[in-house]
Amino acid sequence: VIKNKQRNHYKLFESSISENFKEMLTIETELRRAIKHSQFELHYQPQINLVSNKVIGFEALLRWNHPEKGYISPNAFIPLAEKTGLIIEIGDWVLQEACRQNREWQIKGYAPLKVSVNLSVKQFLQKNLVKKVEQTLQQTGLEPQYLEVEITESMAMSNESYIMETLLGLKNLGVNVSIDDFGTGYSSMKYLSQFPLSKLKIDQLFIRGEREQNQAIVKSIIHMSHALNMKVIAEGVETKEQLEFLKNERCDEIQGFYFSKPVRAQDAELFFV
Ligand code: C2E
Ligand code: MG
Ligand code: MG
Ligand code: MG
Repeated sequence: VIKNKQRNHYKLFESSISENFKEMLTIETELRRAIKHSQFELHYQPQINLVSNKVIGFEALLRWNHPEKGYISPNAFIPLAEKTGLIIEIGDWVLQEACRQNREWQIKGYAPLKVSVNLSVKQFLQKNLVKKVEQTLQQTGLEPQYLEVEITESMAMSNESYIMETLLGLKNLGVNVSIDDFGTGYSSMKYLSQFPLSKLKIDQLFIRGEREQNQAIVKSIIHMSHALNMKVIAEGVETKEQLEFLKNERCDEIQGFYFSKPVRAQDAELFFV
Protein backbone atom coordinates (compact mmCIF):
# COMPACT_ATOMS: atom_id res chain seq x y z
CA VAL A 1 0.00 0.00 0.00
CA ILE A 2 2.75 2.38 0.95
CA LYS A 3 4.63 1.60 -2.24
CA ASN A 4 1.57 2.34 -4.32
CA LYS A 5 0.96 5.60 -2.58
CA GLN A 6 4.52 6.68 -3.22
CA ARG A 7 4.27 5.78 -6.88
CA ASN A 8 1.06 7.79 -7.26
CA HIS A 9 2.55 10.67 -5.43
CA TYR A 10 5.58 10.57 -7.68
CA LYS A 11 3.41 10.48 -10.79
CA LEU A 12 1.39 13.44 -9.61
CA PHE A 13 4.55 15.40 -8.95
CA GLU A 14 5.97 14.50 -12.35
CA SER A 15 2.85 15.50 -14.25
CA SER A 16 2.57 18.81 -12.41
CA ILE A 17 6.15 19.62 -13.39
CA SER A 18 5.47 18.99 -17.04
CA GLU A 19 2.25 21.02 -16.85
CA ASN A 20 4.18 23.95 -15.43
CA PHE A 21 6.83 23.47 -18.04
CA LYS A 22 4.28 23.45 -20.84
CA GLU A 23 2.66 26.55 -19.44
CA MET A 24 6.05 28.26 -19.27
CA LEU A 25 6.76 27.42 -22.89
CA THR A 26 3.37 28.76 -23.92
CA ILE A 27 3.91 32.03 -22.10
CA GLU A 28 7.39 32.32 -23.57
CA THR A 29 6.04 31.86 -27.11
CA GLU A 30 3.28 34.35 -26.41
CA LEU A 31 5.75 36.85 -24.97
CA ARG A 32 7.83 36.66 -28.15
CA ARG A 33 4.67 37.24 -30.16
CA ALA A 34 3.72 40.12 -27.88
CA ILE A 35 7.03 41.83 -28.62
CA LYS A 36 6.64 41.28 -32.35
CA HIS A 37 3.04 42.50 -32.45
CA SER A 38 3.48 45.46 -30.08
CA GLN A 39 1.07 44.18 -27.44
CA PHE A 40 2.79 46.13 -24.64
CA GLU A 41 1.57 49.42 -23.23
CA LEU A 42 2.75 51.74 -20.54
CA HIS A 43 0.35 53.09 -17.96
CA TYR A 44 1.29 56.09 -15.85
CA GLN A 45 0.73 56.65 -12.13
CA PRO A 46 1.11 60.24 -10.87
CA GLN A 47 3.46 61.12 -8.03
CA ILE A 48 2.52 64.09 -5.85
CA ASN A 49 4.76 66.44 -3.92
CA LEU A 50 3.33 66.88 -0.40
CA VAL A 51 4.56 70.45 0.04
CA SER A 52 3.27 71.93 -3.23
CA ASN A 53 0.42 69.39 -3.59
CA LYS A 54 1.33 69.19 -7.27
CA VAL A 55 1.94 66.26 -9.58
CA ILE A 56 5.70 66.18 -10.14
CA GLY A 57 6.03 63.03 -12.20
CA PHE A 58 4.74 59.62 -13.22
CA GLU A 59 5.87 56.05 -12.74
CA ALA A 60 5.65 54.13 -16.03
CA LEU A 61 4.09 50.70 -15.41
CA LEU A 62 4.11 47.98 -18.02
CA ARG A 63 0.90 46.28 -19.19
CA TRP A 64 0.55 43.41 -21.61
CA ASN A 65 -2.58 43.98 -23.66
CA HIS A 66 -3.23 40.35 -24.58
CA PRO A 67 -5.56 39.83 -27.58
CA GLU A 68 -7.72 37.28 -25.67
CA LYS A 69 -6.93 37.77 -21.99
CA GLY A 70 -6.95 41.57 -21.84
CA TYR A 71 -4.53 43.49 -19.62
CA ILE A 72 -2.02 41.27 -17.86
CA SER A 73 -0.13 42.59 -14.82
CA PRO A 74 3.66 42.69 -14.96
CA ASN A 75 3.91 40.46 -11.88
CA ALA A 76 2.47 37.66 -14.04
CA PHE A 77 5.10 37.80 -16.79
CA ILE A 78 8.17 39.83 -15.73
CA PRO A 79 9.70 36.90 -13.80
CA LEU A 80 9.51 34.67 -16.89
CA ALA A 81 10.72 37.47 -19.15
CA GLU A 82 13.65 37.83 -16.77
CA LYS A 83 14.38 34.10 -16.77
CA THR A 84 14.30 33.80 -20.57
CA GLY A 85 16.26 37.00 -21.20
CA LEU A 86 13.31 38.50 -23.11
CA ILE A 87 13.31 41.24 -20.47
CA ILE A 88 16.18 42.94 -22.31
CA GLU A 89 14.10 43.53 -25.41
CA ILE A 90 10.99 44.40 -23.41
CA GLY A 91 12.99 46.69 -21.13
CA ASP A 92 14.54 48.51 -24.10
CA TRP A 93 11.04 49.15 -25.40
CA VAL A 94 9.83 50.42 -21.98
CA LEU A 95 12.72 52.86 -21.70
CA GLN A 96 12.26 54.11 -25.25
CA GLU A 97 8.48 54.45 -24.96
CA ALA A 98 8.55 56.21 -21.56
CA CYS A 99 11.08 58.77 -22.83
CA ARG A 100 9.24 59.22 -26.13
CA GLN A 101 5.90 59.76 -24.39
CA ASN A 102 7.32 62.20 -21.86
CA ARG A 103 8.97 64.21 -24.64
CA GLU A 104 5.68 64.17 -26.58
CA TRP A 105 3.90 65.75 -23.60
CA GLN A 106 6.54 68.47 -23.50
CA ILE A 107 6.19 69.11 -27.23
CA LYS A 108 2.41 69.43 -26.73
CA GLY A 109 3.21 72.33 -24.43
CA TYR A 110 2.67 70.82 -20.97
CA ALA A 111 5.06 71.88 -18.21
CA PRO A 112 7.80 69.22 -18.01
CA LEU A 113 7.42 66.40 -15.45
CA LYS A 114 9.59 63.39 -14.63
CA VAL A 115 8.97 59.85 -15.78
CA SER A 116 10.24 56.97 -13.68
CA VAL A 117 11.13 53.61 -15.27
CA ASN A 118 11.53 50.26 -13.48
CA LEU A 119 14.67 48.31 -14.33
CA SER A 120 14.95 44.57 -13.81
CA VAL A 121 18.12 42.89 -12.54
CA LYS A 122 19.29 41.69 -15.95
CA GLN A 123 18.69 45.09 -17.46
CA PHE A 124 20.56 46.87 -14.71
CA LEU A 125 23.51 44.49 -15.00
CA GLN A 126 23.92 45.05 -18.76
CA LYS A 127 27.42 46.25 -19.58
CA ASN A 128 26.04 48.87 -21.95
CA LEU A 129 23.18 50.14 -19.78
CA VAL A 130 24.51 53.68 -19.34
CA LYS A 131 25.22 53.94 -23.07
CA LYS A 132 21.70 52.65 -23.86
CA VAL A 133 20.11 55.22 -21.58
CA GLU A 134 22.22 57.97 -23.13
CA GLN A 135 21.28 56.91 -26.67
CA THR A 136 17.59 56.66 -25.77
CA LEU A 137 17.65 60.19 -24.38
CA GLN A 138 19.37 61.43 -27.52
CA GLN A 139 16.97 59.65 -29.86
CA THR A 140 13.86 60.85 -28.07
CA GLY A 141 15.17 64.33 -27.28
CA LEU A 142 14.27 64.02 -23.59
CA GLU A 143 16.56 65.88 -21.20
CA PRO A 144 18.08 63.63 -18.52
CA GLN A 145 16.53 65.42 -15.54
CA TYR A 146 13.10 64.26 -16.74
CA LEU A 147 14.04 60.58 -16.55
CA GLU A 148 14.44 58.56 -13.37
CA VAL A 149 15.18 54.85 -12.99
CA GLU A 150 14.06 52.53 -10.19
CA ILE A 151 16.09 49.57 -9.00
CA THR A 152 15.51 47.29 -6.01
CA GLU A 153 17.61 47.01 -2.89
CA SER A 154 19.03 43.61 -3.73
CA MET A 155 20.24 44.83 -7.14
CA ALA A 156 22.00 47.78 -5.61
CA MET A 157 23.67 45.73 -2.94
CA SER A 158 25.17 42.97 -5.11
CA ASN A 159 28.60 43.25 -6.74
CA GLU A 160 29.39 46.67 -5.29
CA SER A 161 32.21 48.00 -7.44
CA TYR A 162 30.43 47.18 -10.67
CA ILE A 163 27.14 48.67 -9.44
CA MET A 164 28.96 51.78 -8.28
CA GLU A 165 30.32 52.27 -11.80
CA THR A 166 26.82 52.00 -13.36
CA LEU A 167 25.32 54.33 -10.76
CA LEU A 168 28.06 56.91 -11.32
CA GLY A 169 27.55 56.61 -15.08
CA LEU A 170 23.85 57.38 -14.69
CA LYS A 171 24.57 60.24 -12.31
CA ASN A 172 27.05 61.73 -14.80
CA LEU A 173 24.36 61.58 -17.45
CA GLY A 174 22.07 63.48 -15.10
CA VAL A 175 19.61 60.59 -14.58
CA ASN A 176 18.41 60.04 -10.99
CA VAL A 177 18.18 56.59 -9.42
CA SER A 178 15.62 55.54 -6.79
CA ILE A 179 15.48 52.42 -4.67
CA ASP A 180 12.10 50.72 -5.17
CA ASP A 181 10.21 48.66 -2.57
CA PHE A 182 12.56 49.92 0.11
CA GLY A 183 12.45 47.95 3.35
CA THR A 184 11.60 44.57 1.86
CA GLY A 185 15.05 43.53 0.62
CA TYR A 186 18.55 43.54 1.98
CA SER A 187 20.36 46.85 2.22
CA SER A 188 23.64 47.68 3.71
CA MET A 189 23.67 51.10 5.41
CA LYS A 190 27.26 51.47 4.21
CA TYR A 191 26.29 51.27 0.53
CA LEU A 192 23.15 53.30 0.99
CA SER A 193 25.30 56.21 2.09
CA GLN A 194 28.04 55.67 -0.50
CA PHE A 195 25.98 55.08 -3.63
CA PRO A 196 24.77 58.10 -5.58
CA LEU A 197 21.03 57.54 -5.05
CA SER A 198 18.43 60.26 -5.10
CA LYS A 199 15.32 58.72 -3.59
CA LEU A 200 13.96 55.88 -1.48
CA LYS A 201 10.51 54.50 -2.29
CA ILE A 202 8.94 53.09 0.87
CA ASP A 203 7.24 49.79 0.06
CA GLN A 204 3.45 49.79 0.25
CA LEU A 205 3.60 46.98 2.81
CA PHE A 206 4.63 49.53 5.48
CA ILE A 207 2.15 52.17 4.33
CA ARG A 208 -0.85 49.86 4.30
CA GLY A 209 -0.05 47.95 7.48
CA GLU A 210 -2.23 48.89 10.40
CA ARG A 211 0.28 47.93 13.06
CA GLU A 212 2.04 50.64 15.04
CA GLN A 213 5.40 49.09 14.17
CA ASN A 214 4.81 49.93 10.51
CA GLN A 215 4.42 53.60 11.35
CA ALA A 216 7.66 53.45 13.32
CA ILE A 217 9.40 51.93 10.29
CA VAL A 218 7.98 54.56 7.96
CA LYS A 219 9.14 57.38 10.26
CA SER A 220 12.63 55.90 10.43
CA ILE A 221 12.93 55.53 6.66
CA ILE A 222 11.83 59.15 6.17
CA HIS A 223 14.38 60.42 8.69
CA MET A 224 17.13 58.23 7.31
CA SER A 225 16.50 59.37 3.72
CA HIS A 226 16.73 63.00 4.71
CA ALA A 227 19.82 62.42 6.83
CA LEU A 228 21.46 60.83 3.78
CA ASN A 229 20.34 63.73 1.54
CA MET A 230 17.81 61.65 -0.33
CA LYS A 231 14.18 62.33 -1.10
CA VAL A 232 11.56 59.84 0.02
CA ILE A 233 8.29 58.77 -1.58
CA ALA A 234 5.58 56.54 -0.11
CA GLU A 235 4.00 53.94 -2.41
CA GLY A 236 0.54 52.45 -2.11
CA VAL A 237 -1.13 55.39 -0.36
CA GLU A 238 -4.83 54.55 -0.34
CA THR A 239 -6.44 56.62 2.41
CA LYS A 240 -6.62 60.18 3.70
CA GLU A 241 -5.31 58.97 7.07
CA GLN A 242 -2.19 57.54 5.47
CA LEU A 243 -1.69 60.77 3.55
CA GLU A 244 -2.04 62.91 6.70
CA PHE A 245 0.39 60.74 8.62
CA LEU A 246 2.98 60.98 5.82
CA LYS A 247 2.53 64.74 5.54
CA ASN A 248 3.05 65.11 9.30
CA GLU A 249 6.21 63.06 9.11
CA ARG A 250 7.55 65.27 6.28
CA CYS A 251 7.52 62.59 3.63
CA ASP A 252 8.37 64.37 0.34
CA GLU A 253 6.09 62.62 -2.13
CA ILE A 254 3.30 60.07 -2.42
CA GLN A 255 1.99 57.68 -5.03
CA GLY A 256 -1.10 55.52 -4.67
CA PHE A 257 -4.74 54.79 -5.42
CA TYR A 258 -5.85 57.58 -3.03
CA PHE A 259 -4.78 60.03 -5.70
CA SER A 260 -4.93 57.85 -8.81
CA LYS A 261 -4.44 54.38 -10.21
CA PRO A 262 -2.00 53.99 -13.11
CA VAL A 263 -3.80 55.32 -16.20
CA ARG A 264 -3.34 55.21 -19.97
CA ALA A 265 -1.13 57.89 -21.55
CA GLN A 266 -4.05 59.89 -22.93
CA ASP A 267 -5.72 59.95 -19.50
CA ALA A 268 -2.48 60.99 -17.80
CA GLU A 269 -2.78 64.32 -19.62
CA LEU A 270 -5.49 65.28 -17.10
CA PHE A 271 -2.75 65.57 -14.47
CA PHE A 272 -0.77 68.21 -16.31
CA VAL A 273 -1.48 71.85 -15.65
P1 C2E B 1 6.44 48.64 -8.38
O1 C2E B 1 7.49 49.23 -9.22
O2 C2E B 1 6.68 48.65 -6.93
O3 C2E B 1 5.11 49.42 -8.78
C1 C2E B 1 4.08 49.73 -7.88
C2 C2E B 1 2.93 48.76 -8.02
O4 C2E B 1 1.95 49.05 -7.03
C3 C2E B 1 2.19 48.85 -9.35
O5 C2E B 1 1.69 47.55 -9.67
C4 C2E B 1 1.02 49.78 -9.01
O6 C2E B 1 -0.10 49.64 -9.87
C5 C2E B 1 0.70 49.32 -7.62
N1 C2E B 1 0.06 50.36 -6.81
C6 C2E B 1 0.25 51.69 -6.87
N2 C2E B 1 -0.49 52.33 -5.95
C7 C2E B 1 -1.17 51.39 -5.28
C8 C2E B 1 -2.13 51.43 -4.19
O7 C2E B 1 -2.48 52.48 -3.66
N3 C2E B 1 -2.61 50.23 -3.76
C9 C2E B 1 -2.24 49.05 -4.32
N4 C2E B 1 -2.77 47.93 -3.84
N5 C2E B 1 -1.34 48.97 -5.34
C10 C2E B 1 -0.83 50.13 -5.81
P2 C2E B 1 1.86 46.92 -11.12
O8 C2E B 1 1.67 47.99 -12.15
O9 C2E B 1 1.02 45.70 -11.18
O10 C2E B 1 3.40 46.52 -11.17
C11 C2E B 1 3.90 45.53 -10.33
C12 C2E B 1 5.41 45.46 -10.39
O11 C2E B 1 5.85 45.04 -11.70
C13 C2E B 1 6.10 46.80 -10.19
O12 C2E B 1 6.15 47.11 -8.81
C14 C2E B 1 7.46 46.53 -10.78
O13 C2E B 1 8.27 45.84 -9.89
C15 C2E B 1 7.10 45.61 -11.93
N6 C2E B 1 7.07 46.39 -13.19
C16 C2E B 1 6.10 47.18 -13.68
N7 C2E B 1 6.45 47.73 -14.86
C17 C2E B 1 7.69 47.28 -15.11
C18 C2E B 1 8.63 47.51 -16.18
O14 C2E B 1 8.40 48.27 -17.13
N8 C2E B 1 9.83 46.84 -16.11
C19 C2E B 1 10.15 46.04 -15.04
N9 C2E B 1 11.35 45.42 -15.04
N10 C2E B 1 9.30 45.82 -14.03
C20 C2E B 1 8.09 46.44 -14.06
MG1 MG C 1 8.57 50.85 -9.24
MG1 MG D 1 7.52 49.61 -5.56
MG1 MG E 1 6.98 46.10 -6.37
